[in-house]
Amino acid sequence: MTENATPKTTAKSPVGFGKHDHAHCKTYGLSRAEAVCEAAGVQFTPIRRRVLEILLEAHEALGAYDVLARLSAEGLGSKPPVAYRALGFLVDNGLAHRIEKLNAYIACAHPGEAHDAAFMICRACGTVAEAEPRGLFKRTAGEAGFQIETLVIEAEGLCPDCGEASV
Ligand SMILES: [Zn+2]
Ligand SMILES: [Zn+2]
Ligand SMILES: [Zn+2]
Repeated sequence: MTENATPKTTAKSPVGFGKHDHAHCKTYGLSRAEAVCEAAGVQFTPIRRRVLEILLEAHEALGAYDVLARLSAEGLGSKPPVAYRALGFLVDNGLAHRIEKLNAYIACAHPGEAHDAAFMICRACGTVAEAEPRGLFKRTAGEAGFQIETLVIEAEGLCPDCGEASV
């Protein structure tokens, strides 16, 4: 399947690669999280906020124990359930995703909108960009009468920066 063969879609462009205003990613992520929690009537507790801030620092997936190490260094908690519960909350509320392949978590690039996500994971620098899955597979499944409930797309490769460096 070549990229050219896929029809143009209106999918949002991947967020994470290349130079961009990352301060915007952070403030956007946090403000969306506040709005999502308020709308859902759930509490955006200091620890949930801090865990999201940690995830938002870079477009890199962090394991639960990395997050826990940060929390514990900051005196916010040292028991694994503290980190797992906060991460679970973020995932359940569409504010973060779990990357199966890395057994790690990443802040959502389009928080609060229910969506399937596809991830491009750079094997050299660890950057993870989130994109919306292409419609092709979903259409094929639809034509086969298959109802997709969960769709996990995790691609590994080289990001634009690392790809260039290796030439
Ligand atoms: Zn960013
Ligand atoms: Zn997302
Ligand atoms: Zn890279």
